[in-house]
Amino acid sequence: MLRSSLLWASQNRTIERLVRSSRAARPLVSRFMPGETIADALRAARALHAERTPCIITYLGENVASGAAADATVAEYERLLAALAAQGADAHVSIKLTQFGWDLDRPRALDRVRAVARMAQAGGTTLAIDMESSAYVDSTVEAYEALAREFDCAALCLQAYLQRTPGDMRRLLAVRPYIRLVKGAYREPASVALQRREDVSARFRELARELLGHAGEGVRVAFGTHDLELLRRLRQDARELAVPPSAYEIQMLYGINSEARRALAAEGERVRVLISYGTAWYPWFMRRLAENPANLLLVARSFGRRPVRPSPAP
Ligand SMILES: Cc1cc2nc3c(=O)[nH]c(=O)nc-3n(C[C@H](O)[C@H](O)[C@H](O)COP(=O)(O)OP(=O)(O)OC[C@H]3O[C@@H](n4cnc5c(N)ncnc54)[C@H](O)[C@@H]3O)c2cc1C
Repeated sequence: MLRSSLLWASQNRTIERLVRSSRAARPLVSRFMPGETIADALRAARALHAERTPCIITYLGENVASGAAADATVAEYERLLAALAAQGADAHVSIKLTQFGWDLDRPRALDRVRAVARMAQAGGTTLAIDMESSAYVDSTVEAYEALAREFDCAALCLQAYLQRTPGDMRRLLAVRPYIRLVKGAYREPASVALQRREDVSARFRELARELLGHAGEGVRVAFGTHDLELLRRLRQDARELAVPPSAYEIQMLYGINSEARRALAAEGERVRVLISYGTAWYPWFMRRLAENPANLLLVARSFGRRPVRPSPAP
């Protein structure tokens, strides 16, 4: 119920104006992102690099309303990729199709994505496509199929909670995909998505096992989750299937479960952290709040008398 309300609020312009203008929101936002600029993201990437942890960087933004805004997204990713190349960081980039004008003109938007993919490929890095709400899944899977045939660097996020995902995943095996599997972050009806956490975790595990089974055929897989019990089972499955830790990656979000992430790396797992930056943080921030009821306590405290101090960078 709470999750659903927060996800509803993530689409509400009035609440967005309220939250964005509130000084109390800032310390909370900074728990999940290092700042709004490329320099902030690079600083976080360097700190992770010092711990020998690679990263993924995403420039926040979705559902842009003009071609000019979509062109500006391309320019920003070009600047980001150039800065990453200069820094020599092991960093992927992650994008959302609606940030490239997907709601306006899909062929044009795909050309914009191609421009960024060419640069990522030339730089030897990965360009991952996030999965957005269910209305975009058909077209995103199609776009990824096309891109995966052109660019070895292309990766796609699939959401375990969607009823359709097993079918999408099997269809994509034909292009030897690079899949980031996640539970799913949007508000979706029962006709479209599993609703119970246990069911989503069980489905995640089934899909992960299937992907691991294809690891020897060039299928690459990343588990985007902070769920330590699920990760324990996935690692056990990998051992059972004789898949070594080098054949998959664990991916987590900046600022979440950092201690557990370090412990996994110390045990020999490959772990990568997704850093988000940019000014368009509102819907993304609300999805982060919705993911963990404990975050609401922080919200209540920060809008009360006592401001919350930001947690130290992971
Ligand atoms: C690398 C990466 C990329 C992602 N890309 C996408 C995408 O493209 N599309 C999409 O729909 N979703 C994406 N997600 C989000 C994902 O769908 C889940 O909403 C999110 O990861 C929370 O689920 P969980 O698997 O961590 O498990 P949960 O069961 O939600 O969480 C497990 C534990 O992790 C901690 N935790 C999890 N989230 C938070 C949080 N926000 N704040 C504080 N603690 C938390 C808590 O301790 C919690 O008990 C991505 C997630 C990651 C890690």
